[in-house]
Amino acid sequence: MKKIKKDKCGYYYADVEMQEIYNWGGLGICDSCGEPIFMNGRIGKLVWVLGGCICEKCFNDWQSRNKRYEEDLALQEECAERYYKNYLGKEIEFDGM
Ligand SMILES: [Zn+2]
Repeated sequence: MKKIKKDKCGYYYADVEMQEIYNWGGLGICDSCGEPIFMNGRIGKLVWVLGGCICEKCFNDWQSRNKRYEEDLALQEECAERYYKNYLGKEIEFDGM
């Protein structure tokens, strides 16, 4: 069962190994900085609200400045399950649900 976690603002994210990224056809390049994900940490972070998979460095940068928007959270509840299942398979579990 793959865990979908929630950050301090309420946004979902999943920790993903390089093999999981390759499994969905990704190349392991950070969607934020464009560098190989393994160069800036050990794992990737798949984030629905950002629409991509980013490296740990970019995730930490985002975490230090992100804000909670109720509109995003409402849309997230509607759309995120399908998004994560599409990338990670049907066996996912959301924290706090
Ligand atoms: Zn990055």
